[in-house]
Amino acid sequence: NTNEMMIEFDSRSCNEGFARVAVAAFCTQMNPTLEEVADLKTAISEAITNAIIHGYENEIHKIRIECKIVGHDLYVTVIDHGKGIPDVKKAMEPLFTTKPEMERSGMGFAFMEAFMDEIAVVSQPGVGTEVHMKK
Ligand code: ATP
Ligand code: MG
Repeated sequence: NTNEMMIEFDSRSCNEGFARVAVAAFCTQMNPTLEEVADLKTAISEAITNAIIHGYENEIHKIRIECKIVGHDLYVTVIDHGKGIPDVKKAMEPLFTTKPEMERSGMGFAFMEAFMDEIAVVSQPGVGTEVHMKK
């Protein structure tokens, strides 16, 4: 008893709002609380922003989001084919950022961890990044 949805869109910041609303709309069939929807949107926004500014460094390429509902669980994966992360463990530490000059606080992954139940990051330099989240 599963239900899947996939979207792919250009890595423009104007698409971030669209993508997080699309995922939120898809998950309404699970009857989430307003708080759960807000948490999900926050986590997805962080992952998309990272793909845009870090993965693709503001060049326009495709970002893909795969969603799957299995029973009462929601799985969301945000995928880019950008520059990748050389040290995922380090990148996920709170306050770690490679763009301090751009007013980045290094809290994106910390928010994703806080607002979702599980997060796993798979990344390879030069190949891209997949952020797998569960709620
Ligand atoms: P903030 O999210 O607070 O604005 P940030 O984006 O630097 O700051 P995180 O979202 O926690 O902080 O990401 C930490 C670091 O991981 C980034 O600075 C970047 O070096 C790397 N990173 C994250 N996502 C990606 C990605 N999709 N592709 C390449 N590098 C990434
Ligand atoms: Mg970030």
